[in-house]
Amino acid sequence: MAFAAIHPEAGRVDATLPDLGCGMSWDAVYKVRPRVALRCPACGHGVHAKVSSRKLRYFAHDPGRPDDCVWLNESLEHHLLKLELATSIRAVGWHAELEVRAPDGSWRADVLASSHDGNHRVAWEVQLSPITDDDIADRTHRYRRDGIGVCWVSTADRIPWIGSVPSIRVREPEENQSWTVIDGVAGFRYADGAWNLMTDVALVDFIGWVLREKAIVHQVLPRYRRIWRGSPDRYVRRHLIWTSPHSIDEEARHNLMRQRQEEWKRRKQEQERAAAQRRKAEEEARRQEEQRQREEREAAERAMREQRWAEQRRQWELQAEQDRLRREAEERHRQEQAQAAEEERLRQEQREQQAAHHWWAEVSAAQDQQLRTAVADPVWKKEAIRLTFDDHGPTAECGYGIPIYRPARWGTQLYGVLRPSPASLHRVPHSVPVFVRNAREAQLLTESGAIEPDRVIHFDLPDYEQLSLI
Ligand SMILES: [Zn+2]
Repeated sequence: MAFAAIHPEAGRVDATLPDLGCGMSWDAVYKVRPRVALRCPACGHGVHAKVSSRKLRYFAHDPGRPDDCVWLNESLEHHLLKLELATSIRAVGWHAELEVRAPDGSWRADVLASSHDGNHRVAWEVQLSPITDDDIADRTHRYRRDGIGVCWVSTADRIPWIGSVPSIRVREPEENQSWTVIDGVAGFRYADGAWNLMTDVALVDFIGWVLREKAIVHQVLPRYRRIWRGSPDRYVRRHLIWTSPHSIDEEARHNLMRQRQEEWKRRKQEQERAAAQRRKAEEEARRQEEQRQREEREAAERAMREQRWAEQRRQWELQAEQDRLRREAEERHRQEQAQAAEEERLRQEQREQQAAHHWWAEVSAAQDQQLRTAVADPVWKKEAIRLTFDDHGPTAECGYGIPIYRPARWGTQLYGVLRPSPASLHRVPHSVPVFVRNAREAQLLTESGAIEPDRVIHFDLPDYEQLSLI
């Protein structure tokens, strides 16, 4: 169905206008005989005037219509909305034409609104069926190219292209109400810093705003594309909206404020980053300084330890040297003492020899014989044992006395010592008695305490030779 047709004489006729837009009555085309040769503006096929059950005037294709006519598949709803748009445009005081084709066929407007001077045109497109984004963008571009504004109108719940081209969503009126725009129009509130969708604008008001340029298409700035819609969906994303120049100014003003804020924030972050870097650099410098001081300290401690070791080694070496010197001194001292002792011993021996020499010089050979006899005779007489006197005479081993032997089973055994020197009694073997001439000599031996008195046996021989007896 369609609202426009081409009359063979009057040209374009509009079923929505009382005079069909050309000073002609509906009755002049509706059910007249002979039929008026009306044609479809889109495909050129024959059409005839009809009235719907809702008293709506329109044109329908004659039988044998071409399948590809663009008007063919439009629904009643589509037509009613077109009619509403045309009516609203006319109410605002603009011309409204339905189903207008471009001279070159590049566009076909459902409703084309024109200002009185013909300088401004806005196409109103009812789009109820699905259409691709590319297709709708392309069709929008064709209007723009020809200097015609456009607004896409739909009643669908979900419209993928809303906000990507100039568009609105409208709601069909309930009883005694008018059509309303419920999506596609927004206002910017500086206090909110956001766009708010207007969901209750009378369609006729909106059309008036658009035609008088109180509402214009606006490309939303990127940061504000989340638009507040309230419940239930709360936010929707939109690139294009219809709005007032004032809202656009407010958006720009808010955007500038945000940019300043961001710039300030960016500078602040930059400063903080710089400060953090500075702190980090200082921290690193401090760490390096601490590391350096630690290494220095360790090196100093190491040096001190080595110095202590060296000192210790020197001490040990010194100690060792002192020990060596001390040992050498001791050794020397010991040797000197030994030498002194040896010298003393030799001197003692010399003294003893001298003493022994004097001791024996007191005794003549006769007196010597006399004493030997005094020792040996009693033994011979009593035991028939002949004692012998050492041929070597006085010996050092027997304290410079003469060893006396008696026969034993194997050889001889020491029987006693004859007249040892009083100065050399310590040399006399302990087990044997010693024999001296008389009590005086015995007294000489025992008075030093060097020999027990009971080991000293003496006789009663005179000290002086009794020449008279010879
Ligand atoms: Zn047609």
